[in-house]
Parts: sequence; structure tokens; C-alpha cells
Amino acid sequence: MAYDDENIFAKILRGEIPCDKVFEDDYVLAFNDISPQRPVHVLVIPKGRYIDVDDFAANASDAEIAGLFRAVGQVAQMTGVSDDGYRILSNIGARGHQEVPHLHIHLFGGADT
Ligand code: 5GP
Repeated sequence: MAYDDENIFAKILRGEIPCDKVFEDDYVLAFNDISPQRPVHVLVIPKGRYIDVDDFAANASDAEIAGLFRAVGQVAQMTGVSDDGYRILSNIGARGHQEVPHLHIHLFGGADT
């Protein structure tokens, strides 16, 4: 499957659709989920054009992979969920019920997850 440049997160990355930004650096953008499932529900996405974890693991650079996971840790610190604990999740493909075909890590916290 080819990357779809018209997916909603690609549009957010291009600034065509607004988001409630939590964190940004050279590698990632993190923003609040539009339909939060927990008091803290942040989506952390790479800036590169990657569909899912499979695509990212196979094709991303070491710096991009490190950048994504460092950002997840920073977002956890920034949102105050590190002490009490939190959950990260990435849905992949049809059976994973992935809705948006741009890799995203869900970070859930602020309540029992
Ligand atoms: P998935 O099922 O693909 O893992 O999750 C997609 C997530 O993206 C859902 O939790 C959904 O609420 C969120 N989402 C979908 N469209 C938008 C949007 O336009 N803005 C934001 N901030 N989140 C979105």
C-alpha cells in the first residue's frame, strides 16, 4: 500500500488542518486526540511519510526511530503522566482497526488505562 498524502494527519503536518499541539521537534508532531478516550490522550506522529509501524521499522532512519520514542517520553513528562503510569498503543492495518494511515502512537493517561 502506498502512502496517501491526503490522509488527515498529512494535512495536519502541512498545516492545512489545525491541531491542538502538545510538542514538536525535527522528527515528530504531538497533538491532542480530537476524541479523547482518557483525560490525557495525545497522538505522537513522525513527520516522515510512514503508514504504520511495519513501514516505519523497515524504512525509517535510526534518527527518526529514536526521535519518535524520545518524543513519546518527553510528551509523557510534559503531560504529567509519567509518575502514575500510562499506556501507549499503535493500531496497525485493518485487523488493528487503524483509521488514519499515517503512523501514530496513542498516549493514554490521567486515569486507569
Ligand atoms: P486509529 O484508529 O487510526 O489508531 O486512531 C486515529 C485517531 O485519530 C482516533 O483516536 C481519532 O479520534 C483521531 N483523529 C481523527 N481525526 C482527527 C483530527 O482531525 N484531529 C485529531 N486531533 N485527531 C483525530
